[in-house]
Parts: sequence; structure tokens; C-alpha cells
Amino acid sequence: HAILDAYAVRAQFPILRSKAHGRPLVYLDSAASTQQPEAVIAAVGDYHRQHHANIHRGVYQLSQTATRMYEDARLTVARFLNAAEPAECLFTRGATESINLVASTWGAANLKPGDEIILSTLEHHSNIVPWQMVAHATGARIKVIPIDDAGEILLDEYRRLLSPRTRLVAVNQVSNALGTVNPVSEIIAEAHAAGALALIDGAQWVAHGVTDVQALDADFYVFSGHKLYGPTGIGVLYGKRHLLDAMPPYQGGGDMIERVTFEETTYAPLPSKYEAGTPNIAGAVGLAAAIAWVESLGLARIGAHEQTLLRHATERLSAIHGLEIKGTARRKSGVVSWVLVDPPIATLDVGAQLDLRGICIRTGHHCCQPLMDRLGVASTARASLGVYNTLEDIDRLAGAVADIVDHARQKTRATVANLEPG
Ligand code: PMP
Repeated sequence: HAILDAYAVRAQFPILRSKAHGRPLVYLDSAASTQQPEAVIAAVGDYHRQHHANIHRGVYQLSQTATRMYEDARLTVARFLNAAEPAECLFTRGATESINLVASTWGAANLKPGDEIILSTLEHHSNIVPWQMVAHATGARIKVIPIDDAGEILLDEYRRLLSPRTRLVAVNQVSNALGTVNPVSEIIAEAHAAGALALIDGAQWVAHGVTDVQALDADFYVFSGHKLYGPTGIGVLYGKRHLLDAMPPYQGGGDMIERVTFEETTYAPLPSKYEAGTPNIAGAVGLAAAIAWVESLGLARIGAHEQTLLRHATERLSAIHGLEIKGTARRKSGVVSWVLVDPPIATLDVGAQLDLRGICIRTGHHCCQPLMDRLGVASTARASLGVYNTLEDIDRLAGAVADIVDHARQKTRATVANLEPG
């Protein structure tokens, strides 16, 4: 595939022409949220200006058009994930709600005391806390797959944790904090061999490579629109039909019913059963536009571009004296996490000083406190890549970090010199 012209891609993002503190913006926080291209902004604007109405209920043309756009968005998602049918793709508020939906509905119906759920050390809080809540309510227990110092899941340890008591394995495809790409095919196959289901948190994967839920044989797969160049407040839960059919509904309300009386209610078939109330119609339209946009560039091409940037960022940052990269897995997505140890500089300070130079990165625990505990740090500084980033962005980041370290070192030396006797 031809090399991607990152400058031409970048030009499609109005926000990337803006400045921060008078400096041209270098946006390196795509793992938190990607920015939106003109095509997505226009699709959402066009929907609001010309097609907006409540869906599924109106006999008038406008409502029917809005309904068609919402259901077309579902078709786009189904094609994007290679789901067997669109009804297996549910719209949610995001990855967090998708996981909560499975934990509370499937979990409540299927977990008993002594049952086990397996997670990994690399999980985002959104793939930990919902399971803890349902474990607490049902008496199920949580087991955690350990990782090595590079940030890779230990597969042998995983195999040892699997047992006839395992009901479900929930892991991410890519770690948001370290960038580790997990061997999810293998993880799913092993879960199935043990008679368990597998949920994959694809929040950090879908924008960086091709997804095929049938090839993976994932039972559940979740992601968010706002990490895929789409809007916030929209996400997807994919589930195999036989599982979604068997699970109890999530929220009760309009649109999710077939017939309601005060004595009894029967539920609508998929996908409406899990989509109570008026959904985020504009969000679904925006997500579909975002999917069309990434597909027009090609996910393999996007992934290759980001790997080039990742190699460059890893090289430049690791050359800085006193900088330690956290997460050195063999397979990584476009995330570089680091700490400054010599001289020690708090990650929050690094983030604030980079901000003054117009550079957006994230500092903190990245919603992965158990992972930070395992790494022995309270937080890291994290630069994460999107398709619009360039080698120049990386050079500006590395130059600024080197500068911050130099200043701190000079200050330390000056302090030490002042303390010398005589
Ligand atoms: N899982 C992972 C790996 C993530 O990175 C995130 C977002 N940081 C989430 C889940 C949660 O996504 P959202 O906040 O969009 O629900």
C-alpha cells in the first residue's frame, strides 16, 4: 500500500490548524480522544440541518429518513466489524456502557457464587469496575492475568488461571496506557477451549487496524466512536446473536418493547431490545461517517504510518538521558509512555510544560491504577498517535522533553553547587 500523506490528512482536521499558547498545536492524545475530520463534522451538521427527527415512530418522511440513516449506520458498523448481521451491533454511549451492559445483564443472569471472571493487569478501569460490581452482587470471583516487565500478558499464567469455573475472559486488544497489542485470537481460543466466553475491549484497536469479530470468534466486542475520529457519546457493543437473545434487557423504556401492560411486558427483538429510549442518532450518523473516512484511507495504511511514527518516537525519546519508557512489548500500537527519573520530574509538570509549548499529551494513571501499581509508578506521561501525526510532531515533542530535562538538570546542578562548602 502506498505511503500515507499525513500532511494531506492533517489538513482535513480544522482543529489541528488552531494554536495553543500561541504555538501551533501538536496533538498527541489520540488514545484519549481522536480529533474529527471535516467529513465527520459535515455529516453530523448535515443531519442536524436537514434530517433530524425522532426515529422508529414517525410516519412522516423526515422521521423515516432519520430512521434509515440510523439503521444505515448500524449496517456500516456491522460491515466494519464483519459481524454476521447488523442486529448483533448495538449502539451504546461508548465502550464503558457496552461493558457495563454485558456485566450487568449477562453477568446477573449467568454468574453464581464460585464462578470466575478473568481480566488482565493491563485493563482500563472500565473493564475492571463493572466486573467487580457484578462479582460483588453474584458472589463470582475475579482472577487477573499477570504481565511481564515489558507489559506483555503472560500466556502460560493465563492458561493456568483458566478452569471449569471460568465463565468469561475480558481483555483489551490494545492497552491504552502502554500500547501493548494483545494476542486476542489466542486468548479467545483458550477461553473457548475452557468453556468460557470472551469479551474484547477494542477501544484502542479499531482505529489502528482491521477488525473481524467472526475471524476472532469474539463473543462480545466493544469500542467508542470518539477514539475512531467520530463523536463522543456513541459506541458499539457487538455480541453474538444467541447470547444477546438470551440475555435480559439492560434498561427499560420506549423502543425496547413489543407490548406493555401493567401486568407484563414483552421485549422487542434485537437490536431494539437493548436500545431503550431515544438514542444518539446524530452520534450514530457521525460514527458511520468516521468509519467511511478511515476505510477510505485504509486501516492497514493507517497502521503502517503509525508504526513509522512509533519507531521514531521510541528512538528519539529513549535517547533522552534519564527518560525511561514504560511498555516495551514486541507488538505495540502508537502509544509511548514514559517517566523521567534522572533528574526526577513529576509527570504532571512535564505535561504542563509541554502544554505551554502547544504540545498535548496525557499524564496520570490513564484509568489503569492496577497497571501503574504493577509498574511501580504512580503515573506516566503518554504520547499517543493518530493518523494525522507527522514526524515533525514527534521531533517537536522529543525536542521539548529534552529541553525540559536539560533545564531541570541545570537547576539541580546549580542547587548542588550552592550547597558546596566554601
Ligand atoms: N477501554 C480502553 C482500553 C480505553 O482506552 C478506554 C478509553 N480511555 C475505554 C475502555 C473507555 O472508553 P469510553 O471512555 O469511551 O467509554
